[in-house]
Amino acid sequence: MYDYLIVGAGLYGAVCARELTDAGKKVLVIDKRQHIAGNVYTEKIEGINVHIYGAHIFHTNNKDVWSYVQRFAEFNRFTNSPIANYKGELYSLPFNMYTFNRMWGIVTPEEAAYKIEEQKRAVGITKPKNLEEQAISLVGTDIYEKLIKGYTEKQWGRECKELPAFIIKRLPVRLTYDNNYFNALYQGIPIGGYTKMVENMLSGIEVRTGVDFFDNKDDLTEQAQKIIYTGPIDAYFNYCFGNLEYRSVRFENETWDTPNFQGNAVINYTDIDTPWTRIIEHKWFEFGKDEEGHNLPKTVISREYSSEWKLGDEPYYPVNDEKNSRLYESYRELADMEGKVVFGGRLGEYKYYDMDQVIDAALDMVDSERIKEKQ
Ligand code: UDP
Repeated sequence: MYDYLIVGAGLYGAVCARELTDAGKKVLVIDKRQHIAGNVYTEKIEGINVHIYGAHIFHTNNKDVWSYVQRFAEFNRFTNSPIANYKGELYSLPFNMYTFNRMWGIVTPEEAAYKIEEQKRAVGITKPKNLEEQAISLVGTDIYEKLIKGYTEKQWGRECKELPAFIIKRLPVRLTYDNNYFNALYQGIPIGGYTKMVENMLSGIEVRTGVDFFDNKDDLTEQAQKIIYTGPIDAYFNYCFGNLEYRSVRFENETWDTPNFQGNAVINYTDIDTPWTRIIEHKWFEFGKDEEGHNLPKTVISREYSSEWKLGDEPYYPVNDEKNSRLYESYRELADMEGKVVFGGRLGEYKYYDMDQVIDAALDMVDSERIKEKQ
């Protein structure tokens, strides 16, 4: 008999497992995949830590979360500075003075602000209602057309007018010459890969990989006092209200016998015609070197293609539009009635969480379990 069964060995599950174990609970972690670490899983190929389920760059403003992860990994000083490739024209991301200079030939922040305001006014947006209006309000129509529209429509498979504004607010807009993609105080990549970090989180804890919860739901449920379920919430309820929509991602990985394919970790292809959204060159997350500091002779790249999720695919991004948010609420109501089960993480809560938010949410959840126990 276990105090807690944790379904899913990703970041949410691993943090819960660590905290509950340290609080004296008997914990079993299962994952249907053959490995731990969920979508932050990295695998060594040609000496390079390859982010198998897409690039993950740890960044946070939360000092507690930053100190927490230091217990399990040492982080390097990688700073994400992606480049946008629009039909061969290269622009700096996030949107900053280098981007505005390349787009309009302007040099001062005042000129950039004027240009953005002028374009925003021409479209007549006062209160942005969707991603398109939000984007134009932030950066004007030229940048929207070249760097946002095509990328977003490939990424989400929906028109920018149909998407929620918050998605584009993830990206900073700065009137400074600063190419750091994130506004976070702390940023880096765990040295040795995310898998090693999650392995450290799960150290000494019983973990069974290759075990699908739904193949043995009744049996597994009986073996534990409580369950922390981090899979898709709609799958737990057998899609009884219909499925929530997700975006799935497919990666085409290539190993090249050359030390440098594109000169940067991330290049976004922001036109609508290039079928992939971005190309990741994994070695640059670790400055092109192995752990002994030697230059790596080869390189591994991943082309990322976005598609609508269908049953059997891996869900990656929740589509948090109105329709899906309403559907999620119906599942949430069912979830609240499952006394024994707590739902958490990007899939369990149907939320576009970053890694630091997932860790924070897991720590909060364990705290609330402690409080409930005391009552
Ligand atoms: N985005 C864009 N152009 C870019 C990069 C991002 O329009 O070159 C938009 C797009 O809608 C995307 C959103 O900004 O979904 C959030 O981007 P982020 O890099 O945060 O996405 P993630 O890395 O989580 O896929």
